[in-house]
Amino acid sequence: MIKLIFSLVCLRVARLLFMLFAIALTSHIQAREAWHKHEFTVMGTIAKLEFLTESPTLAEALIAAVVAEMQGIDESMSPYKKQSELSYINQNAGKKAVTVSPELFSLLVKAKEISELSKGAFDITYASVGYYYDYKKGHKPSQQQIDKSLPAIDYRVLKLDLVNRQVKFGSNKVKIDLGGIAKGYAVKRCITLLAEQGIKYALVSAGGDTAILGDKNGRPWYVGVKHPRADDKQAVILPLQDEAISTSGDYERYFLENGQRYHHIINPKTGKSTKGVLSVSVIGADATITDALSTTVFVLGLKQGLALIDTIDGYDAVVIDQNQRLHFSKGLQLN
Ligand code: AMP
Ligand code: MG
Repeated sequence: MIKLIFSLVCLRVARLLFMLFAIALTSHIQAREAWHKHEFTVMGTIAKLEFLTESPTLAEALIAAVVAEMQGIDESMSPYKKQSELSYINQNAGKKAVTVSPELFSLLVKAKEISELSKGAFDITYASVGYYYDYKKGHKPSQQQIDKSLPAIDYRVLKLDLVNRQVKFGSNKVKIDLGGIAKGYAVKRCITLLAEQGIKYALVSAGGDTAILGDKNGRPWYVGVKHPRADDKQAVILPLQDEAISTSGDYERYFLENGQRYHHIINPKTGKSTKGVLSVSVIGADATITDALSTTVFVLGLKQGLALIDTIDGYDAVVIDQNQRLHFSKGLQLN
């Protein structure tokens, strides 16, 4: 009997020790830093998030905050949502001055600055013609429609009243769209949000725009630039740290008709898809700027595009030309 009691006690002690060991082990694991990943759909694309923290509770809260931040930007800036602030501007700013939220207004100011810098290659009023295209349905405007709406593409008719935070268009034919800058802005906002919460290592991407905080396990993050004509291949892989990269490509949204590719990057001078290069990636500190510049360089083409990038401190570009050849701005060349 005593033997039985003794072995039962031993068993209990062993169990207790085992549980204590398990708790100690779990709390040790919980206290260890771990990479947290999340993927979701927003702004018509896939957004990805990856960051390092030791707190699973904080990780959960940060994932929710990033999702909410991107969804909020989409609610305000989507041209597809009738209730968005952007849609309201497009419906009214041709008739009267419209007061705009500080966030959207400051993005309009940035977009106009890039228009001035690029002499109109980047122009959010491209949408005055751009909205006639439907890449999913394979629709494009007729030459007559282009001729009628082309004069409405002109960033100079976008009147931004900095004092009253108001926007007004030159005519009611003018429409704007932030597709060339909003995703970069969104990833920038999210990476800033993570940094403000003490995160030191992170990556946030939305479609072709990626913002990076710190390095990854003591090495740079390796970000691939898609091969423009082979979905499963990378054209080049870039080591990045505390930087952003944006890629614009003619393979993102397009349809083919009679061997012609109609894609989503519009030359403001013609109202038609830009010809010349297949893909442009811009690297630099600010994802809002890399996004706008990748679209800009795509429109400007290889020579003019790289020449512009070479004048901007801290920004570099990789261009893939029609013959699928790679070109680098001066800052990425060895000599
Ligand atoms: P991205 O992939 O950043 O080059 O953005 C392409 C998107 O930018 C298109 O889907 C349009 O919404 C918008 N866009 C197209 N052409 C222009 C242009 N010339 N200037 C500014 N935005 C443009
Ligand atoms: Mg862009």
